[in-house]
Order: sequence, then C-alpha cells, then structure tokens
Amino acid sequence: MRVLFLGTGAAEGYPAIFCECAHCSTARALGGRNLRRRSAVLVNDDLLIDIGPDMVASMHATGANFGRVSNLLVTHSHGDHVQLANLYMRRQSFCATTPALMDVYGTPPTIEGIMGAAAARSLAADEFHLRLNTIRPGDSWQAGRYRVTAFAAAHAPELTPVFFALEQNGRTLLYASDTGPFPAETWEQLQDFAFDCVIIESTMGIGPPGTHHLSMHQCVEHHQRLADEGRLRPGARQFATHFSHNRTPPYLECVDFFAPHGIEPAYDGLVVEV
Ligand SMILES: [Zn+2]
Ligand SMILES: [Zn+2]
Ligand SMILES: [Zn+2]
Repeated sequence: MRVLFLGTGAAEGYPAIFCECAHCSTARALGGRNLRRRSAVLVNDDLLIDIGPDMVASMHATGANFGRVSNLLVTHSHGDHVQLANLYMRRQSFCATTPALMDVYGTPPTIEGIMGAAAARSLAADEFHLRLNTIRPGDSWQAGRYRVTAFAAAHAPELTPVFFALEQNGRTLLYASDTGPFPAETWEQLQDFAFDCVIIESTMGIGPPGTHHLSMHQCVEHHQRLADEGRLRPGARQFATHFSHNRTPPYLECVDFFAPHGIEPAYDGLVVEV
C-alpha cells in the first residue's frame, strides 16, 4: 500500500488561520514541514480516509488525483474530517467526467449527516455517485481490494467515532485519528492484528493527558503498548499525526521528541510504502 499524507494538522490547521502564538508564528516563518493542512490520507489511488476542508489544497500540493477514489472511510463527522461540500462537487455541473462510484463508510451520525445535507438540497446520493454504507465500531468488511476493520474511539462519543485497519496484499495499516485513549474493547479487538504501519494521533502535544485526544506522551504509550503486545511486524513504521499548534512544537522538535521511541512525526505530502 502507498500511503500519502494529504494533511497532518488538527481542526484549525497549523498554523491556525487567525493565531499569532509562538508555534504559529514559527511555522509561518519556517514553512515546509511546519505547515499542516487538516488530516486525511490517500491510500494507493482508490481509498481515502476522511475528506476535510483542505482537499483542493492538498491536491494542488501533492499532485493527488481523487477521480479514481472508489472507497471513502470517514472516521467521524467533525468538520475537519468530512466536508459535504467536497461530495457536492461530484455532481455533473461541477465534475465534467463521471467520477467512479464511491462507497462511503461511516457510523450512523456520519451517514445521516451526508443524507441530511443531500435532502436539504433535494438531492439523492445517486447524483453524487455515492453509495452510503453504515458501519459500526467492531465491524469488518471488504471495501474493493481492502479488508477494513473499524475500531471504537473515545473521541467525541456522541458521534460514534471510529478508526481503521486496512489489509491489502498481506500488508496491514492502522490509521488512528481522532481516538483519545483506546477503549478496552478496542485493545481486545487489536489482538487479532499485526501491523506493518501504525499512525496515531498526538493532538494534545506536550501537555497533560487527554480523554478525547492523545498527547504526544500518550501517543508514544499507545505505540509502545502495541509493540509490547506483539502487534507490530518486524520493520513496522510508526507515525504520529493530527498535530495542533496549541502544544505541539515545530516539526524538528517533534522529530527529536519521537525519535528515541522509533516514531516519526508525519508531515503533509509524506509518502509511505507499506
Ligand atoms: Zn480532527
Ligand atoms: Zn497558534
Ligand atoms: Zn474530531
């Protein structure tokens, strides 16, 4: 699997649009890997995880082509992870070619949100070339050439958030954003997996432990527990993502923080061959 990080920032982006804090000011001055769009990843050319507000910008910056995406996994319905306006652009008046039929997978609040937005414009999902699939935490299913498993997350429980494992060609990826501390049932479900690549959020930065998001220390602890429980295959790559300006230092300081633990901070445009 080829994983392209389209964005690695939290809800407000990094730097945040109206913020002049030290982290945002440093990021503006240094540019490069310090600039983070809202989080999403493209797997190969046919599977997206999340479809937030920066899809056009990420396409321009990375050269990604979303026209062949036939599977969209949505972690939860926060605006930095799903923007219905992007799906609206699949209609004929905005898209001259007919995009591939896209299967969308999300928990009930996500799917109901998409259906509600379409209904508000008196449109059917067909007009967007979408097939909406309601999934629940703990489910496992086939999405095109991928075996997908959804794990329960502690983040924003009213939205029934999930995060995903993808299996393809004998390789296994874990993309865990936004999670908070993994629930007990999720740790149990993870016992069935061995990962070649693990990506975990670290939104709270160098701060106190979070209950709906993870700090950088908690991110390390989650990676470490997966390793301790034998969930990592030899040579597995480990990443942190979904960085907020509030307590996350500039990119190179993140590199130094995570390096002793064998973890790399992801950055926008990073490509990983899993
Ligand atoms: Zn988020
Ligand atoms: Zn800031
Ligand atoms: Zn969220």
